[in-house]
Amino acid sequence: MRERNNMITLHPSNWLYNASVIGFINSVEKVEKEVDIKQSMKNTGEVIFELQLFSELNVKGRYFDENKDNRVSSIYRNAIYRNYLTTEDEKKLFYDFVKTLDKVNQKGSCDFCNNGYFLANEDIERINNSQRSDKKFLNRITNFNFVHNQDLGPAPEKFPNSYWNYNHGIKICHLCSFLEIHHHLAITRLTGLSQVFVNVPSFRLMYDLNKLVKELYGNSTDEENKKVREILATTIIEYVRKMQNVLGVWTSMNIEIVHKYKIKNDKGKLEDRIEFFSLPSNVIRIISDRSVSNILSDLAEFKVLNIVLDEKYSFLTELGYKLLREGSKDYNNRNEKLISSILYQWKNQNNLTLTANKLLKLYSLIDDKLKGN
Ligand SMILES: [Zn+2]
Repeated sequence: MRERNNMITLHPSNWLYNASVIGFINSVEKVEKEVDIKQSMKNTGEVIFELQLFSELNVKGRYFDENKDNRVSSIYRNAIYRNYLTTEDEKKLFYDFVKTLDKVNQKGSCDFCNNGYFLANEDIERINNSQRSDKKFLNRITNFNFVHNQDLGPAPEKFPNSYWNYNHGIKICHLCSFLEIHHHLAITRLTGLSQVFVNVPSFRLMYDLNKLVKELYGNSTDEENKKVREILATTIIEYVRKMQNVLGVWTSMNIEIVHKYKIKNDKGKLEDRIEFFSLPSNVIRIISDRSVSNILSDLAEFKVLNIVLDEKYSFLTELGYKLLREGSKDYNNRNEKLISSILYQWKNQNNLTLTANKLLKLYSLIDDKLKGN
């Protein structure tokens, strides 16, 4: 059995760190297929794996493969990580850096992971000495700024609005500075310039939820019209329906969706903005009930979903009775305008009585839950 100190435990922290860890896990799943990385995500929320994993990484394939579909991250002259590796020299020492990560030790502070895993002094010296330039790679990457991320990292004078309450030059440990170059793999790019990440205090849950977001919204073309809040809600609903796991204790914790988008400033230049949305714990408790999520998913009506998200549940009965009334009328006498103002799906419009009953059933399920039954 391996010694305990050959293992590393990562705990959820801020969203960008969380996305970096999830992105790294996704990358291992894609490249080092023989590693069972899934079992490293524990039900208690943290990730525990053997440090040796770092020396087993296929650095050439992951970061420098000629074919960009095989690469997980192009950190050499790539748009987002443009300043991470700047010379051929650094590209060479990066191999050494990654392989040496299996010897990191907790010995300093890190504003990113709150632990601080750094290389040993002799390794730092060796890597620094292999570089002729004064601008040492290891010094550069331990300050979180545009070196890491063109979009998110603060340039010296310009800090993206309220990204964190930190000033520029956040201190970041060697391990985090490596993990961070994978964060984009966990984020779902919607159409246009908008991106989302679901943030929860459990890596396992983040892994599942973000995978679902990608499945549900990663390839669609109309999600730009959907509110980010709806994306979060439908993801939770589908999670509850498809997964064997229950949200359990996590429902009482903060489940938020991070929305990153670009907006034109006064000078007409595109600027990054980041917003955070979360759902009230009451709403999460309701939509994570399997019977409720089944009806919501089956109806697939955003109007209905928004009534639930707004916690205006009595509207469900109101709409249900209106639809029952229309359903009892002769087909030609129906108020089509009213029906289409409530229902979007053709299958629902054509089965008014059934749809109305689903709405009433939904209300009674929610009412039971609110009463604590
Ligand atoms: Zn760190």
